[in-house]
Amino acid sequence: MTTRASDDAPQPPPVTGLFFCVLASGSSGNCSVLVHRTGPEAPRRVVLLDAGLSPRRTGRLLSERGIRPDEVDDIVFTHLDTDHCHAGWASAIRPGGWRARLRVHRRHMGRAERAGLLFNPTEPFDDSLTIDRGLSARVGMMAHDELGVAAFRFAARTHAAEAHLGFATDVGRAGPGLIGLLKGVDLLAIESNYCPEMQALSDRPEFLKRRITGGSGHLSNQESARASRSICPRERLVLLHLSRQCNTPEAASRSHADSGCPVSLSDQHTPTPWYRIAGRACRVEPEPTASAPVRSLFDLPSAGGAAW
Ligand SMILES: [Zn+2]
Repeated sequence: MTTRASDDAPQPPPVTGLFFCVLASGSSGNCSVLVHRTGPEAPRRVVLLDAGLSPRRTGRLLSERGIRPDEVDDIVFTHLDTDHCHAGWASAIRPGGWRARLRVHRRHMGRAERAGLLFNPTEPFDDSLTIDRGLSARVGMMAHDELGVAAFRFAARTHAAEAHLGFATDVGRAGPGLIGLLKGVDLLAIESNYCPEMQALSDRPEFLKRRITGGSGHLSNQESARASRSICPRERLVLLHLSRQCNTPEAASRSHADSGCPVSLSDQHTPTPWYRIAGRACRVEPEPTASAPVRSLFDLPSAGGAAW
């Protein structure tokens, strides 16, 4: 079954666990939210994946979903194209404003500097990313224009479960590196950018069509569906970055009809509901003492019997 972004009204984020919502996705701006809370007493972590909406609109959409803008801990960028990094963020990160730490791939740091995004809380990452003790990500750099784009496999630990989110947009090509990184995640959010026939028939200039379809631009519906079948998400598939000019929700859904799990479409103007990522049960780890070293989730012993 395919659900559209407008099927559910906004709800406040539930209390414990890992939750994911796409605020907007498309060539006019991309922004998703991850909320993680390990237990009812624990503080919740709020992470934005890309920030392609203005700070004001982002703040309004978050508030409508029960999150204050000053609760955003990290903004993780896949890359810094304007539809993933709105120019307004250069002046929004300041004392008394958004306090979020910006996380930028090391390859994009020069561009971040030119965009005025190097603040005290800006941190580069390479092949892994730690948000806190219970939430971290493996990173794969994929082809996209000159500088590439980061794809993520987030892993979150709650009291007795471990949940994995795969996030891949603007990846150009879904090769073995991407499949291996995301194989068997619980929720997969992946772009399904264009219908090849609509792309070919569009009045876009040839150089743009070549850029999009040439292996360092975007995934077609069919490429996305093939990748999704190989990755085989356990709980849900969320389709990102549908082209307004060269795709339709119907064409994207049709391509993913045999994906084997519920499929949800994101939208440029209407946020999705919160998706709870249940993950799988794992051995309960004792709470570390205050002097114990902080470790990334990926340093922990693998979950009971889980193969990923
Ligand atoms: Zn994009």
